[in-house]
Amino acid sequence: MSKRLKDLLATGKPVWSFEVFPPKTPAGLESMYGAVDRLMTFKPVYFSCTYGAGGSTQGPTLDICTEIMRRHQVATMAHLTCVGLTVDSLRDFLRQARERGIQNIMALRGDPPKGQEGFQKIEGGLGYASDLVGLIRSEFPEMGIGVGGYPETHQEATSPEDDLRHLKTKVDAGADAVVCQLFYNNDDYFRFVDRCHLINIRIPLVPGLLPIVNFPQIQRITALCGAKLPGSLYAELEKHQNDPAATAEIGADHARRQTEGLIQKGAPGVHFYVLNQSEAAYQALKGLGVA
Ligand SMILES: Cc1cc2nc3c(=O)[nH]c(=O)nc-3n(C[C@H](O)[C@H](O)[C@H](O)COP(=O)(O)OP(=O)(O)OC[C@H]3O[C@@H](n4cnc5c(N)ncnc54)[C@H](O)[C@@H]3O)c2cc1C
Repeated sequence: MSKRLKDLLATGKPVWSFEVFPPKTPAGLESMYGAVDRLMTFKPVYFSCTYGAGGSTQGPTLDICTEIMRRHQVATMAHLTCVGLTVDSLRDFLRQARERGIQNIMALRGDPPKGQEGFQKIEGGLGYASDLVGLIRSEFPEMGIGVGGYPETHQEATSPEDDLRHLKTKVDAGADAVVCQLFYNNDDYFRFVDRCHLINIRIPLVPGLLPIVNFPQIQRITALCGAKLPGSLYAELEKHQNDPAATAEIGADHARRQTEGLIQKGAPGVHFYVLNQSEAAYQALKGLGVA
């Protein structure tokens, strides 16, 4: 059975996927695999693993994808960014992914490494995610390709219209699906979908949700990626900021309501940024009767 992204998303019913990141310690790794085991309850169509996200070091993305496939025979998507890599090194990563049976790549420009102001294309490297999509599609045509989309517009974009045009370039270069940046107001996603359709972007636009578990952490993450927290949600979280159990409940409840609203109005599924923990996504999906 094909495990390429476009086939995984074409089941005709809502699909779930989960994103993890390479932990820094062996204990973190074990705990992450524990979360993966538990999230298998929901029969996700794939797990993805980030690469150098948030400017972190470029960890063992391929090893983690390989181990998840070994444990669960589930599809994976390895993230790859253009940060600090020449085209030859990008090819090398893609070759290794293929040899390991990883069938999907999330093709990204990437966040700059810690301490570096803004993205810098290196000599012999690539400047935009669309260039990476082009490289993969021409030299690794069998690979499934995901690209990032920004319902609230990418923070560096010169305008929402320019950002959307650049998304269309990635789609035309051969992407199979758009995975959206996290957002907390479904209206932002549905407006984005309408705008994409207007410029003839017709591939699946998968919403991305990050269930909130910690107030300072979500303030940091939303500040970094430019996502807005709705006023009422912000006020609730602020009120309970010293009560971790209440915060987790508010976060899971919001994620459950968002998921329900997205599916009811025709989203193809939901990609959950689970930050290597299972509880919040578990509660949100269980609350919908998915388990
Ligand atoms: C689902 C998802 C997963 C992610 N995973 C990771 C990860 O694993 N590791 C990581 O480091 N980061 C990750 N990120 C973050 C991502 O790397 C950043 O958002 C990054 O700043 C932009 O990446 P991109 O692929 O969207 O870039 P691009 O599509 O290249 O766009 C970057 C900026 O350049 C503009 N642009 C694009 N093309 C052109 C052009 N031809 N001319 C002028 N401007 C242009 C765009 O409008 C945008 O503002 C992820 C993001 C998402 C949505």
